[in-house]
Amino acid sequence: MKFVSKKCPHCGRWADYKDDIYEDCYFCLQPLEPESIQEKQKYEQKGKEYYEKLVEPFFPIHEKDGILVRGIKHFVNTIGLIYVSIVSFIIAVIALLPG
Ligand SMILES: [Zn+2]
Repeated sequence: MKFVSKKCPHCGRWADYKDDIYEDCYFCLQPLEPESIQEKQKYEQKGKEYYEKLVEPFFPIHEKDGILVRGIKHFVNTIGLIYVSIVSFIIAVIALLPG
């Protein structure tokens, strides 16, 4: 961990900065790096969206679906997930094989 001083964008004073974007200004308690925090949140949001897309079921189950439709959708989603897992596994094995 390195200790440096960073000029606060809010009050203009030099505050201790410990290489942490969530560090607050010692004098006015405002974040020293508001842009970095925003950037990080944007990045995390993007990652979350990507993950949600990845695990999105093939047939989303709705509240109004009957018990039978729900059962079928759940079954197909499970099969689909297993299928995707197997295919990913095979691709990984092929990629890892020499030659
Ligand atoms: Zn400040």
